[in-house]
This record gives sequence, C-alpha cells and structure tokens, in this order.
Amino acid sequence: MRLFAHSCPACDAQDEALQAACESSPALGRRGLFAAAVAGAATLAAPPAVAQVFAGRPRALGIRRVQTGENFSGVYWRDGRYERNALRQLDWVLRDPGMEEATPMDPRLFDVLASVQARMGSDEAWLVISGYRAPETNAARARQSRRVSRVSLHMSGMAADVQLPGRASLQLARVAAEMQLGGVGLYRRDGFIHLDCGPARRW
Ligand SMILES: [Zn+2]
Repeated sequence: MRLFAHSCPACDAQDEALQAACESSPALGRRGLFAAAVAGAATLAAPPAVAQVFAGRPRALGIRRVQTGENFSGVYWRDGRYERNALRQLDWVLRDPGMEEATPMDPRLFDVLASVQARMGSDEAWLVISGYRAPETNAARARQSRRVSRVSLHMSGMAADVQLPGRASLQLARVAAEMQLGGVGLYRRDGFIHLDCGPARRW
C-alpha cells in the first residue's frame, strides 16, 4: 500500500527506500501525521538527541517561508508539551503555498529543525523552500514531469527542505546527520538540505 505519494523530486529515490521500510513495518508507516493529530501531538516522544539538546528547556524555533515571506519565531514546546497555538502558526507557515488551508505537521519535525538550529549555534531563521505538499500539487507536478510519482514525507507533513543563512549546506547536513534525528538529504548544488522526522538516514 502506498502511504505517501511523490512530492519533492530531489527526495524521490531516498523516500522510495523509506517506503519499502514502511511496507515491511506497518507501525512505522502508519504513525506520523494522522496519529499525531488524533493524539493531540502533546504526548509524542522526541528522539533522545532532542532531549539532550534542550534538557527540558523551552524549545524555540525560527522559520521563514521563502514563497510567502511569512515567518514564525518563538517557543513551540514548554514544560513537556507542544504548544497548540504555536503548532497552528507553524503549520500555516509550512503549508503548501498553493493551499488556503494548513495541514497538521508532525511536531517532531519542529524538534529536528530546532535541534539542528541550536546545535549550529545560529540565531538565524530557517528559510523553508518546501514543507507540506498537497496531493493536488503533486499530481500537477507529476503531469508536467516524466518522472514517475513516488513517495515523500513532504506529503505526510514530516519533511522540510531548508537553508540556514550563513551556513553551508554541506556543514548543515553533516551536523544534522551526526545528530541522528531523522532523514537528512544534501542538495549541495541547490544549496539546501532536506530534513525529516522519519527514520535516521542520510543521502
Ligand atoms: Zn525534501
């Protein structure tokens, strides 16, 4: 069963491998966006590395959306809970730019972004090139491209393609991969990295 459809062309091949893992482990594939929404997102466990980075302190994040100029800056997790209002704002900034409605993102993606940002010692906001991708957007792209539609965590609200001002994509990818928080893809020529809160892997 296909749980996710293609979105980010650059991430296709890697996410196909992930899809294979999902199919062999239904629990892996079925968790995430919808489970997070149902659970209210407040009880999700973050990877140990996230806890190490923040050690119980409030988790803050700064992001700016390249396409819209919209941004979020502030605390999204405090005293053991994700803050719903902050999540709602983050969901909106990370929406498919062509959509008028936001989709609940997996809040563990925010932990990945915040942890890497903190580890880099950067006060700059992430520039988000791609966050959530809607099926309609993907379908339209697929019609325009000869590439076969595959799978992507962008469509399940678990991935973002980002840049951090003043930091080379190679350096970012290395640091993120060392942290083992999820998937890390380096697109050096395009100057961005893909980060997701799926299983730790690197390409
Ligand atoms: Zn991507």
